[in-house]
Amino acid sequence: MALVPYEEVNQRSFEEESARRFTLVQVAKGTAELRGPCPRCGTAIQIPLVSGTYKSFRLWRRNGVRPTPPPGEVHEETVICTCEEDHPGRPEGKIGCGAYWCLEITTS
Ligand SMILES: [Zn+2]
Ligand SMILES: [Zn+2]
Repeated sequence: MALVPYEEVNQRSFEEESARRFTLVQVAKGTAELRGPCPRCGTAIQIPLVSGTYKSFRLWRRNGVRPTPPPGEVHEETVICTCEEDHPGRPEGKIGCGAYWCLEITTS
């Protein structure tokens, strides 16, 4: 399978797809990890979210069905693809395919 070329892009569909397919896993007290497939290149990636002050995290997506967030504070987390594949055209020292998007996370 040919790899998509490296490109720093953001598409609305990335946010929708990752909100549907990513899970937020509590890995330790105050530390959670976003896990799921990159909506651009499809590689499973893990994004650590570190915070000593939040007790719990919840991945949440504003949409037509759920226009208001669950109780708690909503944070926007920018997620950048961190895959280790060799995407053509990737600048030296960079990782991922270049895709980035935003997820909304509620914390309490
Ligand atoms: Zn990739
Ligand atoms: Zn990617």
